[in-house]
Amino acid sequence: MIHSGQCHCGKLTASFETQKTPAALGVRTCQCAFCRAHGAVNISDPQGVTTIDCAPADVERYTFALRTADFLICKSCGVYVAAVMGEGEKIVSTLNVVGLQMKEFFDIDEAPMDYGAETTDQRIARRYTKWTPTHFTNPDLAAANFGPH
Ligand SMILES: [Zn+2]
Repeated sequence: MIHSGQCHCGKLTASFETQKTPAALGVRTCQCAFCRAHGAVNISDPQGVTTIDCAPADVERYTFALRTADFLICKSCGVYVAAVMGEGEKIVSTLNVVGLQMKEFFDIDEAPMDYGAETTDQRIARRYTKWTPTHFTNPDLAAANFGPH
């Protein structure tokens, strides 16, 4: 099944293809200060596919702390949409279903996650294992390096 979402103003859109139902997939609430500031609730499926469509000029690529991923924020409406890591054919991401208004994921028990004890290598390895293989429709973003920086 393909789930679609967009930021508040609609300049950033994402589609998420998965074989799992929303309940079987589950949703996570990362406990870091950035995710809590945005009220983020995240999904990913390493067997799925995410496609992110936006113009480079419309997206802020925010990094912090270990700088191992880019947090994509709409420059127009300020919504946090996705965290992205990697480059080329090896880009992975996790989507924020709240920011993307993906309502079919709203009424699912949230699993709180605390990744604060991870080393940098552990964090990168976990994301490549757990996050969703991701494509950007814009060629400049498809060729971009999304960290680690
Ligand atoms: Zn927006």
